[in-house]
Amino acid sequence: MRNQRNHSLPYIIAALSLLLSLMVWVLTIRSIELYNSTRFKTLSRNIQNDTTYRLNTYINAMEQTQAMVSVSPYLTRNAFRNYVKKLNFENEYPGIQGMGLVEKVLAKDLSTHLSQVKSEGLPSYRIWPLESLRREYFSITNLEPHNKRNGLYLGNDLSQDPVKLEAMLLARDTGFPAATGIVPLLQEKGTSEQPGIFIFVPLYRYGTNTQSTNHRHKNLVGFLFSSIRVDTFFKSVFSRIHPSSPIDFEIYQGEETRPENLVYDHDGKASFKTSNFNPSFRMKTSIDVGGKTWTIFSYSLPFFSWSFYQWIPTMVLLTGLLVTGLLFWITQIHTHSAAQEAKRARELEGALAENAVLFRQAQEALAARDEFLSIASHEFKTPLASLKLQIQSLVRYIAKGSLAQLPPEKFDKMASVFVTQLGRLTDLVDNLLDVTRARAGKLTLQREVINVVEVVSEIVERFKLQLEGSETYIEMHAPEEIVGCFDRLRIEQITENLVSNAAKYASGKPVNLTLSEVQGCLRLEIKDEGVGISEENLKRIFEKFERVSENDDSVNGLGLGLFITKQIIDAHGGVINVTSRENIGTTFTVELPMGT
Ligand code: ADP
Repeated sequence: MRNQRNHSLPYIIAALSLLLSLMVWVLTIRSIELYNSTRFKTLSRNIQNDTTYRLNTYINAMEQTQAMVSVSPYLTRNAFRNYVKKLNFENEYPGIQGMGLVEKVLAKDLSTHLSQVKSEGLPSYRIWPLESLRREYFSITNLEPHNKRNGLYLGNDLSQDPVKLEAMLLARDTGFPAATGIVPLLQEKGTSEQPGIFIFVPLYRYGTNTQSTNHRHKNLVGFLFSSIRVDTFFKSVFSRIHPSSPIDFEIYQGEETRPENLVYDHDGKASFKTSNFNPSFRMKTSIDVGGKTWTIFSYSLPFFSWSFYQWIPTMVLLTGLLVTGLLFWITQIHTHSAAQEAKRARELEGALAENAVLFRQAQEALAARDEFLSIASHEFKTPLASLKLQIQSLVRYIAKGSLAQLPPEKFDKMASVFVTQLGRLTDLVDNLLDVTRARAGKLTLQREVINVVEVVSEIVERFKLQLEGSETYIEMHAPEEIVGCFDRLRIEQITENLVSNAAKYASGKPVNLTLSEVQGCLRLEIKDEGVGISEENLKRIFEKFERVSENDDSVNGLGLGLFITKQIIDAHGGVINVTSRENIGTTFTVELPMGT
């Protein structure tokens, strides 16, 4: 579980980092968009503000002149010329071609008016066009600076042009400056026609009431006007805008962007007409030009967004991806080495545990060996001590030269001790050899057809002799014969071991041995009524060197008898079972296949 978590950690970290990178990327794109949009709006507003500001400057100049003219009812032609000269149109108000006065002339005053103007140094002055007589005329009497082109306008009745008349009436009725739409400007012969506008400022009779439209209507004496060439005007207004500016714009008369109303096209390419015109940003603003609305349509050029900022989102994304990759790589390495370490630690733990088991087994083996050596020494010591005593006694007789005087009964006893103790030593050595053989898997059988009842009976008879005089006695129950293919010596060994144990632990009670043939098997049952074996110890009695009975200390034995017995039974392909209850008795049952 923990391992799985460790493995998925680099992926989780990489996913989070990727998510964060994408979020920052999207945020950066949004920010750059916002920045560009704000930049575009600022540039567009600058165009609007520059135009409005410049127009207001011009109108202010006209209003100042209006104020000057209004308070000087007897203003001379020369004084007006000098005043206008001081305004320095060419440098201060580019685009203004002239500033002049329009006088309202009633039909009844026409001849007086004509002679008055002619007497002022303009002998060829006349009012034109003059197809028919009218109630009143609005004639240009003065237009400065005095030059050939402006001279063409003198005497022109502007009310005959409906566009100009409309602006004049608006100025008259409102009292404020009013502009015409685009009109062609009069030019000297040989030069092309130029579009322009006229701005009119009303002039009322000095000192009269101009509060209401009626009053203004009644007291109007004429207009101060300016003619402005629009392309020169706009060129000067937008002279600060760099030619490679990322935005383009067009200015239209009216509120709609109709091509026929185009007043000014900044790059002269009329971009909106092209079929693939699809700017990223566009904006419509309007300005008031002497009571008329003009519309500025601005839009971004394709390279508007081409700046260093444009690359920031890509750089942010690439950096994010790079960081994600690095994080993944580092955590991957870290996790891998952590997993390796954990694996090594587990291997080490396993090795340690294995070593601990081996160490315990070795300790147990050493302890078992020590115990065995001490028991074996003890077992060997007893018969050897007994033999030593007999031999010493014999040596004493020989030394005294009285061997012939040794009583026959004592000699018999000595011989019997020799036979018994040598037999015991032989048994011990045989047992040890059998253990070694069993361990090496070399416990081989010499099978032959035998009558088992005969073989077992001989052993029982031997034990009966040994037990003579003791309280324990053996009873054997068996049929006449049971014939099978067994290793005679090994059958003897099994019987000897089991009978000697039963006798050893019988505590003076009888031992019953029963031989039978059950379902093709030889069955040997040895039952005693002795000390018995506890349930816990029952599991261990067939192990090597296991001696478990309460009275083990008082009874001889290496704890090898049952181990060897079981090995022999296994070699015959049989089984051995034991049932026991403490202080009630023990029954060993051996079953061996009859063999062929
Ligand atoms: P030993 O030669 O020391 O008797 P065995 O392998 O023959 O060794 O027996 C193992 C142990 O089993 C004995 O030390 C003894 O404690 C117990 N044992 C064997 N037979 C009997 C029995 N009939 N009654 C009680 N205990 C027995």
